[in-house]
Amino acid sequence: MKARISAVLIAVSAALVSTSGLAAGRNGPPSPRGLCCTAATVVQPINQAETAALLWLREEEKLARDVYLALGNQWQDGVFNRIATAEQRHFDAIGATIALFALTDPAQAGTGQFMNADLQALYYDLLADGGQSYAQALVVGATIEDLDMRDLQGALAATSNPALQTTYRNLLESSKNHLRMFVLQLRSLGQDYTPQYIDPVLFDAILGN
Ligand code: ZN
Ligand code: ZN
Repeated sequence: MKARISAVLIAVSAALVSTSGLAAGRNGPPSPRGLCCTAATVVQPINQAETAALLWLREEEKLARDVYLALGNQWQDGVFNRIATAEQRHFDAIGATIALFALTDPAQAGTGQFMNADLQALYYDLLADGGQSYAQALVVGATIEDLDMRDLQGALAATSNPALQTTYRNLLESSKNHLRMFVLQLRSLGQDYTPQYIDPVLFDAILGN
């Protein structure tokens, strides 16, 4: 059992390798001496709200990946394709965390398919918006990162679980980079983005305004 959990922790760390040098195993609680290695000694259980946030974020990372792949293909743009690769890592990191807590994964195999009806509707809206122009596609990218950061901040504020905190903090740092990339590209076209979800003070700090 311990070996399986360690393997999952390694998978989580590997999925986050681009954003952090932290290894979950190094920061985890020490195993109590003399106790058998049950999951409870290694993995702190999570509550209903933490579970709901984790499952939402799994599909939200899929939304980012699937929208960026579609827009990268439509506009033949490297920025979207590069960030889509990062979103695959985010999606995998959340997936490994879901496995760590032995939860049922909501992620659908099909591109652009979501269990959550709100995310399904959002996917179609964002694709329609992003299909109007390349600049509008960049606004869609910034909007996804803006929303993702708000949700990650909310999930972080609502948990004291070390495994969740590590995963969410790494994804949050990565989202800041993605937001910066989309907005700088938009500014190179003479346009700008106004934050819709995160604190404008944080937005200015990320962009170095
Ligand atoms: Zn992401
Ligand atoms: Zn992102």
